[in-house]
Amino acid sequence: MTTTLGSTILGTSILDRIGNTPLVRLDEITAHLPGIQILGKAEWANPGGSVKDRAASSIVLDAQRKGLIGPTKGLIDATSGNTGIAYAMLGAALGFEVTLCMPSNVSPERKRYVSAYGAKLVWTNPADGSDGAIRKARELVAAEPDRYFYADQYSNENNWLAHYRTTAPEIWEQTQGRVTHFVAGLGTSGTFVGTTRKLKELNPAIQCISMQPDSPFNGLEGLKHMATAIVPKIYDATIADQNIPMETERAYAMALRLGRRSGILVGVSAAAAVCTCLDIAEREAAAGREAVIVTILCDSAEKYMSERFWQEG
Ligand code: PMP
Repeated sequence: MTTTLGSTILGTSILDRIGNTPLVRLDEITAHLPGIQILGKAEWANPGGSVKDRAASSIVLDAQRKGLIGPTKGLIDATSGNTGIAYAMLGAALGFEVTLCMPSNVSPERKRYVSAYGAKLVWTNPADGSDGAIRKARELVAAEPDRYFYADQYSNENNWLAHYRTTAPEIWEQTQGRVTHFVAGLGTSGTFVGTTRKLKELNPAIQCISMQPDSPFNGLEGLKHMATAIVPKIYDATIADQNIPMETERAYAMALRLGRRSGILVGVSAAAAVCTCLDIAEREAAAGREAVIVTILCDSAEKYMSERFWQEG
């Protein structure tokens, strides 16, 4: 077949880079536990820098297929960070306007990222947390329904479906079906619910453990304290084999340890997930069992570098 050079499609689209993230071994964490492996999905390898590229692209592509977004109808949602960055990237790549409602105290890095992609920002009162941002988004949509498609990551089925369709099959393949435990933190719960549903189909014996902050006043950005938050519609509390609370201070210490002893700089929610994996690893080792524990390293430390704990220890 003859082709002219100009019509040959070379390279990749930025959207094609979402997913298929590496599964990184965290050997230093389990060096004292023979027979136990902890593996982390390096979600910072997604083009928007976090696990939320998966859910956001699944939500956006479904809306685009249904004609709900386009040049004359933008997307709006409440997000304190990673989902907003993902929507903003997708809006820029696919050509629709993105409006994000978020508490005004989100880190300066995050504001810069979404602005750099050209998204519009609507600030809400930090005292009202992410629930205040959700209320604001709903108000704006109610006032101008023709202007906005309300993506509603907390209720949108495409959120968890992204993980059912991509994250879980990747974990299954990358571990050659040897995964014994899956651990993920709860924000919208999309990652945990979608991945768990698929893994349980592939092998019902896989133990799926959710993690959430131990208090509503925590520093685990992206995670929710379910007892005090508006519970996301997509959350299904019945599918977890166990739900483990995690202290912010332990997560900070783990973030420092991963940086200094493994050469892996992750965000605090990822570090909290690794703490949970370590607890499970020690429990399994004490019971004389082998285990392949897989977790989600939601993002890198990049956006959190201004946080004080990095200077400690
Ligand atoms: N960690 C970080 C850093 C996040 O941004 C999010 C998303 N809010 C999560 C964890 C939780 O993911 P999910 O919304 O899928 O529960």
